[in-house]
Amino acid sequence: MTVPNSGKVLFVLSVDTEEEFDWEGAFPQRDCCVDNINYLPEFHQHCETLGVRPTYLVDYPVATTAASATILRAILSTGSAEVGAHLHPWCTPPIEGENTERESHVINLPATLVRSKLATLVTAIEDNLQVRPKVFRTGRWGIDAKVMEILLEFGFEVDSSVYPYYENQYFSCMDACDVPYWPDLGYPNRPGQQRRIYELPITSGFNRPGFPFWAGLHRAFSSIIVRKARLVGLAWHTRLFRKLFLSPELTAVDDMLRLVDAAVASGNPAIHMFLHSSTLLEERGEYNRHKIGRAELYQSIRAVVEHLQARVDVEFCTISEAAQRLQSR
Ligand SMILES: [Zn+2]
Repeated sequence: MTVPNSGKVLFVLSVDTEEEFDWEGAFPQRDCCVDNINYLPEFHQHCETLGVRPTYLVDYPVATTAASATILRAILSTGSAEVGAHLHPWCTPPIEGENTERESHVINLPATLVRSKLATLVTAIEDNLQVRPKVFRTGRWGIDAKVMEILLEFGFEVDSSVYPYYENQYFSCMDACDVPYWPDLGYPNRPGQQRRIYELPITSGFNRPGFPFWAGLHRAFSSIIVRKARLVGLAWHTRLFRKLFLSPELTAVDDMLRLVDAAVASGNPAIHMFLHSSTLLEERGEYNRHKIGRAELYQSIRAVVEHLQARVDVEFCTISEAAQRLQSR
């Protein structure tokens, strides 16, 4: 179903602002390296030239390293950015328990430990960046009723942990709402009645409008029975349909443009791109699938922004600003 957009299309860029590390090794727990933050002023300047207002979701090592905190305070002083909180459980005190893939997902930790770690993180951001974060994203994505309840205790107003059309062994966002919404506190993937905390999912979907339909087809093509026919690969190569995520780390520019067109045609009022600060390290970064350099990264953000501006009336927003705009519509 195609729904026309009413009002300006909002463009949001969120950056998981965190330590760099090697995914092949153990999750780093102490003495994390945040050299990538040295490139954040250059990145932010590029965003400013485009008009983009980034949201930096800052984790504990970045908030507590003097040099990176200084850089973020300077960026905040421009008035063209927002700082939120990003919880990497492996390197946020109290450090306790196992440190495996399972515990790297916030949603897998007991509520008491999530609460303690979040208190540490929020205090670190308040002390070192002089802001109270209103926006949150879990480490490793995904959110459940337990974490949502804790976010409310800390006064968070917007969550951005929902990753539509993605799933792994610990959680599924396959049924998640793919446009901004008020989440059901008991089942945050879906809209509910409460009006205390808002959800701003990243933009993901397909190269054609009507994402839920294509998601169903993608799922059917991925099923064990038909996997041997390699139908998902066939659909990708013939461009019949492609599952896409709006990040220059994961997705080529042409595919991001198709995704943006399809999201707008589907009626999504907010186009939400995401990336990780560690990708600013030249041709490195654990999420940088195509090992793109900074120049290429900046160019791909510019290409998406200019493509969108050529088609619709765009307003650049931080996550909190986008939530406010959408709630008042
Ligand atoms: Zn992260």
